Amino acid sequence: MKQLTILFVACASVTFAQPVNKHITEANVARVIKTLAADDMMGRSATRPEHIDKAAAFIEKEFKTIGLIPLQGLKGFRQEFKKDMIAPQTLEVVINGQKIAPENTLLVSENTTINLTKHAGVIVIPYDTAIKNTRQYLLSKAFNLTRDTATAFVLVAPEFKENFKELKGYFGKRFTSGRKTNKIFVLGVTSVLNYAVTATQKIEPITMSNVAGMIPGKTKPDEYVVFSGHYDHIGIRPAIAGDSIANGADDDASGTTAVIELARYFKKIKNNNRTLIFVAFTAEEIGGYGSRYFSEQLNPDQVVAMFNIEMIGKPSKWGQNSAFITGYERSDFGEILQKNLKGTPFQFHPDPYPQQNLFYRSDNATLARLGVPAHTISTDEIDIDKFYHTVNDEVETLNMANITATIRAIALSSQSIVAGTETPKRIDKSTVR
Ligand SMILES: [Zn+2]
Repeated sequence: MKQLTILFVACASVTFAQPVNKHITEANVARVIKTLAADDMMGRSATRPEHIDKAAAFIEKEFKTIGLIPLQGLKGFRQEFKKDMIAPQTLEVVINGQKIAPENTLLVSENTTINLTKHAGVIVIPYDTAIKNTRQYLLSKAFNLTRDTATAFVLVAPEFKENFKELKGYFGKRFTSGRKTNKIFVLGVTSVLNYAVTATQKIEPITMSNVAGMIPGKTKPDEYVVFSGHYDHIGIRPAIAGDSIANGADDDASGTTAVIELARYFKKIKNNNRTLIFVAFTAEEIGGYGSRYFSEQLNPDQVVAMFNIEMIGKPSKWGQNSAFITGYERSDFGEILQKNLKGTPFQFHPDPYPQQNLFYRSDNATLARLGVPAHTISTDEIDIDKFYHTVNDEVETLNMANITATIRAIALSSQSIVAGTETPKRIDKSTVR
């Protein structure tokens, strides 16, 4: 019985899956992902146009070769937008007559010059052994403080030394938000009697671009199905063993590769009654600015489903031929996908890491907030992935067969939605924060 079942499944999947096997090949998957995760892409930081442009140009070229057309109102595949970035130039903090070492100071302000000798308040962030996660504690305290407009010193207890570095990274280079806050974070100082703070910052406009193309629908062109991944990553990091480029092979060159290969597949099989939009987002890693801009350029009510793909480079906790879907319970998207996979060995599971908040940690959340059944598909064992956001997220750590199988499964699982015969339930906006 067992053997017979296996045989039957194997046969069924082969005949059923032939076009996906023909058009989505491991060779092409490897070519695309190796290009995107190569050292010459310099870690694809969205705030370094001179680095990320190379990746954008490559994706554009692939879209052109495949035969996609630009989105409505655009001449090319780039969907450009500008953001103003705050670039700190100088900062000198003297407290009680002592100059504070630069690594122990951080200014969070949108002013270009600061000269402060009086009228600053003092806020203390003390350490307590009861704090379980000092990183999360400090980051959330700091984030909340930067919401209020008062000018103040924030004295951070010396026990947060390691977390303070991260705080500096988090607020170091960021976009303007219009928040009128002036906070001077200082590590290791316990009282402020007198002070002098001088600082200069530059506001630099940065141009960023999503790369997007489409295949118009045959009978329901006004209904959109979106396939997305983010092509930006975290750029250059402090070197480990001489390597400083965070290649982001899994995160998210793998998802971007899926978007490209799905475009290639659907362009070949020509069975989409709905319009298919393929988009590689920028600036996911620094706050999801690319997907936000994208969501503002179309009517979200016309988007019937969003397949966002993040980190499919390594087999999931259940092994090969499986993946999980974030926000599974929020719509019947997952059930539809699984139904379309009947007769194949592939299995979609609900997100097994709810405590990680993955539903909110990728570009799907932006469209879900607008009611779109927008979910992220992933295979990553995020709780134990030691390569995540390190310079070691390299192509060599990936499993090309896993990526290829997952892309094929996504192609098959989407067929009734692409054909326009099934429509997932909308996500209840009021439940998405
Ligand atoms: Zn990612």
